[in-house]
Amino acid sequence: MRPLLVPLTLACSLAAAAPWPAQALWDQWPTAHVSPADPWVIRHAGLQAALAALQSRHPGLFTVVEEGLSSEGRRIQVLRAGTGPRGVLLWSQMHGDEPTATAALLDLMNWLGLNRDDPEVKQFLSRVSLWIIPMLNPDGAERGQRRNAQEIDINRDALRLSSPEGRLLKAVRDRVRPMLGYNLHNQNPLVKAGPGGRQVALSLLSVPGDEACSETPGTRLTRRLAVKVQQLVAPFAPNRVGRYDMDYTPRAFGDSMTRWGTATLLVEAGGWSGPNEAERLVRLNFVALLGSLSAFADGSLDDIDLADYAKIPLNTRDAMATLVVRNARVLEGRGLAPFTADFSFVVQGPFRGDAPRREPLVQDLGDLSYATGLTELDASGLVAVPWPLAHGDWASLHSDLHARGLADATEAHLAAAVHALGDAAVARPGFRGAVLLYRPGPAGILSLAGAVLHGKVEGPVAAQVN
Ligand SMILES: [Zn+2]
Repeated sequence: MRPLLVPLTLACSLAAAAPWPAQALWDQWPTAHVSPADPWVIRHAGLQAALAALQSRHPGLFTVVEEGLSSEGRRIQVLRAGTGPRGVLLWSQMHGDEPTATAALLDLMNWLGLNRDDPEVKQFLSRVSLWIIPMLNPDGAERGQRRNAQEIDINRDALRLSSPEGRLLKAVRDRVRPMLGYNLHNQNPLVKAGPGGRQVALSLLSVPGDEACSETPGTRLTRRLAVKVQQLVAPFAPNRVGRYDMDYTPRAFGDSMTRWGTATLLVEAGGWSGPNEAERLVRLNFVALLGSLSAFADGSLDDIDLADYAKIPLNTRDAMATLVVRNARVLEGRGLAPFTADFSFVVQGPFRGDAPRREPLVQDLGDLSYATGLTELDASGLVAVPWPLAHGDWASLHSDLHARGLADATEAHLAAAVHALGDAAVARPGFRGAVLLYRPGPAGILSLAGAVLHGKVEGPVAAQVN
């Protein structure tokens, strides 16, 4: 690996006390990036290999100071980097299916290793001690599920400590007594930053330590830290940072950490629809973590206005869908008079939280002007028909409808065909069939122009999706 950091050194030499510039971190991530392109493939064995590679590439950068065992006996490493008095405990993947920050931590450690001779980095490592648990829930990660092998949500086990993973985290906290904690997660990607905002790529919470959400030195620190993160990532992800919406939860780890004296910032990777989504989220996490840690280390956080924390837009849920189809004229199985409606569809990605894995479905219908689709289709002028008989792909659906005489049909003929299917052809929330889309043509004939199939617009009308 070649040393990098000309831009960083130059930028930092201008203002020795300033934290690392976000732009430099963003630009250097491709060089520092050692985690898999898709973090969701990381399993326990892959993490072990990645840590071993980092140790041999950067001897002495970090040490494994402790090893715990998961319920099923997988090793959980606690790493330490830095020798400074300011302790920070970072734990990732306490939910097994939330690996974005795990990948970012690997990249972060590699970046520190590549730049360890840089005076700024040396100074950083002399000011802080980072205690890193890159994968707290290896059994969950192995299964691609939130919970551990006991089917316990470790993040609700801070009081009872029934899980060995929770006991390990608590023991490390009690031994190290760090000033600051980073609780690293993924959240439902279909969340907006405020009602009019964009898809949340990163959401943040200064985790309270009591029911009243009292302001303490600790919560002031994490509020400033949240604002710092927002400032750091704003150039790359404008209007994509949200404030996590959760009340004080005594049995959760973040809340307990704050109560125990380790002020904790919750960082949730969200979604960023588009190419290389997973990598962009890792890169954003990388900038957020390194940049905010450096601001914590050099004391520059004190300059941040506390009031800016409340200005971070709150997460808005239930107002985002994978696909929204607007202004369709609906013909359905109950034989009701045609009406105009918007439809929203949700397609589940690799994050599922506690929800069962599910097929794409209709989320809502009606006036969905409040909702934003990652993709949208203006179906004005089109006729939408819920169709429960769809099997296979668009080509087979099209040929099946053709065989039924329904590829081109009068509205009366189509209405009779869908009415014959009755209640099964009603696009209520939860409907998992296809929604056929017809375009009216000459002589009162409706022609099949496409369909929403498996949550995606197929057929010629797909060209109109934006
Ligand atoms: Zn989580």
